[in-house]
Amino acid sequence: MNAPHNPLSSLSPVDTFCFDNRYARLSPAFYRKLAPTPLPHPYRVSISHKAAALIGLDATQAEHPDVIEMIAGNRLPLGADPLAMNYAGHQFGTLVPQLGDGRALLLGEILNPQQQRWTLQLKGAGPTPFSRHADGRAVLRSSIREYLASEAMHALGIATTRAVGIVGSDQVVYRETAETAAVLLRIAPSHVRFGSFEVFYYRNQTPYLKELVDEVIETHFHHLQPETDGYEQFLIEVIERTARLMAQWQAVGFCHGVMNTDNMSILGLTLDYGPFGFMEAFNPQHICNHSDEGGRYSYENQPAIGLWNCSRLAQALTPLIDAQKCNDALALYANLYREKYYALMRAKLGLGISQEGDETLIDSLLDQMGTHGVDFTHWFRALCGFSSTSLRLNQSALSYLSTPLPSALTQWLEQYTQRLATEPQPEAERQAHMRQVNPKYVLRNHLAQVAIDKATTTNDFSEVDHLLKILEHPFDEQPDEEAYAASAPDWAKNLSVSCSS
Ligand code: AMP
Ligand code: MG
Repeated sequence: MNAPHNPLSSLSPVDTFCFDNRYARLSPAFYRKLAPTPLPHPYRVSISHKAAALIGLDATQAEHPDVIEMIAGNRLPLGADPLAMNYAGHQFGTLVPQLGDGRALLLGEILNPQQQRWTLQLKGAGPTPFSRHADGRAVLRSSIREYLASEAMHALGIATTRAVGIVGSDQVVYRETAETAAVLLRIAPSHVRFGSFEVFYYRNQTPYLKELVDEVIETHFHHLQPETDGYEQFLIEVIERTARLMAQWQAVGFCHGVMNTDNMSILGLTLDYGPFGFMEAFNPQHICNHSDEGGRYSYENQPAIGLWNCSRLAQALTPLIDAQKCNDALALYANLYREKYYALMRAKLGLGISQEGDETLIDSLLDQMGTHGVDFTHWFRALCGFSSTSLRLNQSALSYLSTPLPSALTQWLEQYTQRLATEPQPEAERQAHMRQVNPKYVLRNHLAQVAIDKATTTNDFSEVDHLLKILEHPFDEQPDEEAYAASAPDWAKNLSVSCSS
C-alpha cells in the first residue's frame, strides 16, 4: 500500500515554518520592514543541529541547501516578514537615543512543533535604515566567535540567544583589514532589549512604551496580570533574571565586554557576543574588550553594571511605574545577585548545605586565585577531584596549574577540608556533582582563534564544527580532546579582542 501523501513533504524545509509574527504587527514605530540584502555565492560554514532542532529542523533538513540560501538572505521562507528592530541604548554610560538593528534582520517569529516561540534573526544581513554609515555586514571572524560562544554558554546552562548556523561568502568587507562577510542565524524567544524601551522613553512616546511592555508581558511573562500585579512585577522579574545572569557569568568566569543597555536582553539572556572572553588567569580587574580603556565592563564590574543597566530600564519605565516602586524593585537586586552568586559558588565547591562562613571561604579563595593568577577553569575542575582524606587535587587538572601550589592556596585547602568534614554527602557523590557544574572545556580565546585562522585562510571550517562538538559537552571528560582543556599557548597569551566585528 502506498504511504499516505504528505502535502508538506515536497516543500523545502524553509517553507514549513509556522510563522506568527507578533512583532511585525506592532505599531510601525517599532521597526522598519525590509528584506535582507542577498549574499553572493554563500557557502556553509557550520550548522548547530541542536539549535536547528529548536526551530523544527532535523539534521537532514538543517543541512539542506535552501537553509544555506535562507541564512544568506537569498531565500525568504514562506510567511517571513523581515524587519529591523528600533532601539536606543546607553553605550559606555552615554545615552545614544537612536540605534536600532543596523545589520540584523528579524525574519519572523515561529512556533515550533512544541509550540515554543523562536524569533529568527539574521545577523550581517546587509544595511538597514539604522545602519548609519556602516556596511550592514558581519565578518566571518566575529560570526564564528558568536556562534561558538552562544552554543557553549547554552551547554554551560547559562541563558543565551542560540546560534543555528553561519554561512560565509567571498564578499570582502573592511574592518581594520579586509575580511570576508558572513551571516549568522541566531534565535531567541525574543530579541527585545532594554534599549527597545529606552527609545520610546527618551522620545516621550508613552503609548508605544506601554504597547511594548504589554506585548512582552503577554508573550513572555504570561503568568503576570498587569491589572493586578501592575507593571512593577514585570520590572522585578527582569531585575531578577538579570541578577541571575550576572551571577552565572561570574561563576563561570565569563566576561561580556560590551554591557551597553542595547545589548541587555529583556529576558535575561546573554545577547550580542562581541569581544567577550572566558577568564583564564584569574584577575578580578580583567578587561576582555581591548577598546574598553577605562575598564567599565571589567569582570568585577559586571554585577554592578547589571544593576546600572536595570536602573536605566526602570527609568525608561517611569511613565508606567511609580518612581518609588521602581526604586523598591531596584533595591532587590543586590540581595538577589548575592544569593544566586553564592549558591552557584557553593555548588562549585561541592557544598550542599549553606553554612555560616561559606561566603568568607569563597571570597578568600578568589582573593588567592587573583593574587596568584590561577586559571579559573582549571582550578575549579581540579577541585572536583579533591580528596579531603589525602588532601590531593585532581592530578590531570592540576597538571595545567602552576606547581608547586602557592602556600596560601594549600592553606585554603586545609580550611576547605574542615568545611567538607561537615558535609553529609559521600566524597564520590560530591565530586560527581562538582563535575556537573565546573566545566572542563570553555571557549578559550586561542581555541576560537585557531578555528578562525583555519576558516579565514583556507576556507577550512572543520575546526569550527569540531570545537562546537566539544563545547556541547563542557562537563564531560572527553579524554581524546584533552588538548582543548589546556592553557593558551605562548603565541596566544596576549591575544586582544576589540569591538570591531
Ligand atoms: P554592537 O556593537 O554589535 O552591539 O552594535 C551597536 C550598534 O551598531 C547597533 O545598532 C548595530 O546594529 C550597529 N552596527 C554594528 N556594526 C554594524 C555594521 N557593520 N553595519 C551596520 N550597523 C552596525
Ligand atoms: Mg548590540
